[in-house]
Amino acid sequence: MSKPNIRVGYGYDVHALAEGVDFWIGGIKVPHTHGAYGHSDADVLIHVICDALLGAANMRDIGYHFSDKDPQYKGIDSKILLKEVLEIISEKGYKVGNIDSTVCLEMPKLNPHIPAMKECLAEVMNIAEEDISIKATTTEKLGFVGKEEGVAAHATVLIYKD
Ligand SMILES: [Zn+2]
Repeated sequence: MSKPNIRVGYGYDVHALAEGVDFWIGGIKVPHTHGAYGHSDADVLIHVICDALLGAANMRDIGYHFSDKDPQYKGIDSKILLKEVLEIISEKGYKVGNIDSTVCLEMPKLNPHIPAMKECLAEVMNIAEEDISIKATTTEKLGFVGKEEGVAAHATVLIYKD
């Protein structure tokens, strides 16, 4: 019996928070005193989705395809990287089944922004909002997330071939 044409992938990422930086997360800019920083726009949610997709296809990770030493990716909109990742996994014939994700952040509260993130990511990825789950949690004031020093995210994805 042959295996079904489905594969699972997982992604994890962290970015530090800094005052006066735009906070891009889930493809949208969330108003806050602090934002995530990194070589790209530091969209932690998009980064974990990219890593989960690449992992599911066994095609390395986001840093392998888009080096943080490469100046062309400085400040880049992570939605562009996500689109490129979809191209990369499509080389092996894979499409996105569904995504489940969790963002760990103390402040600001993300729940009011989740519908806009889902709408944005569904459009970028050309999939249904029903196939994108975004959850938000705090870490009960514990650790770097609890101290508002950083943001972390996790994602699990399922990819499939027709
Ligand atoms: Zn990242």
